[in-house]
Amino acid sequence: MYCRYCGKEIMEKAVVCAGCGHPIYEDAGEPPRPGEPWHWLVMVGLVAVAVLAFPLGLFFGIIGLRDEAKKVQGAVLTTVSVIMALLMLAIISGL
Ligand SMILES: [Zn+2]
Repeated sequence: MYCRYCGKEIMEKAVVCAGCGHPIYEDAGEPPRPGEPWHWLVMVGLVAVAVLAFPLGLFFGIIGLRDEAKKVQGAVLTTVSVIMALLMLAIISGL
């Protein structure tokens, strides 16, 4: 990419231009920071989903499993809730 202030070629991850010293992200807002921890609200939401979705899915899944006619739905719901819970925990722990 090229500096939009002086036109000099700069590296993709450069924060300031080596040619003119102008901050690259000045007008585009904050540069993305992959290592930055997530906002606490997102974390709380994910924990809530993991904590609530798992027992609820399991509960209704087991109810479905006990009903011969809804056995397949129950099995699917149980499996999905377990996978969702594991996925959420993986995301929360940062994988
Ligand atoms: Zn520049």
